[in-house]
Amino acid sequence: MAQVAISNVAKAFGTVKVLHDVSVDIADGQFVVLVGPSGCGKSTLLRMVAGLETVSGGTIAIGERVVNNLPPAKRDIAMVFQNYALYPHKTVEQNMAFALKLRKTDPAVVAERVKRAADILDLAPYLKRYPRQLSGGQRQRVAMGRAIVRNPQVFLFDEPLSNLDAKLRVQMRTEIKELHQRLKTTTIYVTHDQIEAMTMADKIVVMRDGRIEQIGAPLELFDRPANLFVAGFIGSPS
Ligand code: ADP
Ligand code: MG
Repeated sequence: MAQVAISNVAKAFGTVKVLHDVSVDIADGQFVVLVGPSGCGKSTLLRMVAGLETVSGGTIAIGERVVNNLPPAKRDIAMVFQNYALYPHKTVEQNMAFALKLRKTDPAVVAERVKRAADILDLAPYLKRYPRQLSGGQRQRVAMGRAIVRNPQVFLFDEPLSNLDAKLRVQMRTEIKELHQRLKTTTIYVTHDQIEAMTMADKIVVMRDGRIEQIGAPLELFDRPANLFVAGFIGSPS
């Protein structure tokens, strides 16, 4: 586990500035949700933490290390995307093991990590199945399994539930929280869904147009919104 420090971070694509002076401190083991309307810069910020986008200004530190110039593979993070493409011709077991095999991990360690992830995610009966033989929820769990086996310091989720139907979304919300309570891995979770943010977060970061509007615990934002935007966004039914 590790703390993450995002300090005065800016991002421009060419001449277009999409993030301005963004600072967020994430404590060791904390579950932080970045929330805000589509296009406000959530994915861009997460991708900078992951090393998938360069940083135009400011610093990002994971643990003690400033990671601005480190490639994704050296950052000790694991990311779960909205379009969690599983390898269709690999089994559940092979999908989970693949990233470790690429890193030339000892086969005994790979087997042990896959078994542990399968136990945590209730996937043990499905290890020999192929993605097409799984339900949407099971596929989502395999995607999480691929992240878990890497034992990362930080989990990054980018709208992981947005392709699921409403009922499954609620169920997976609970499962992700249970996973976090069990592993206590520092997590940054992106969503545009304020209910997801309110129910999952230790701390919520409300963003709009590349800026942070407010940071606080769910109840703090609900009781004392900093402005009308936060009040409307957090308080609106969905
Ligand atoms: P969100 O995840 O909150 O919906 P994004 O981080 O995807 O928002 O996008 C923030 C802004 O940056 C948007 O205006 C988007 O069009 C722009 N943007 C994102 N990626 C790129 C890119 N590779 N090139 C140019 N503009 C981009
Ligand atoms: Mg996004």
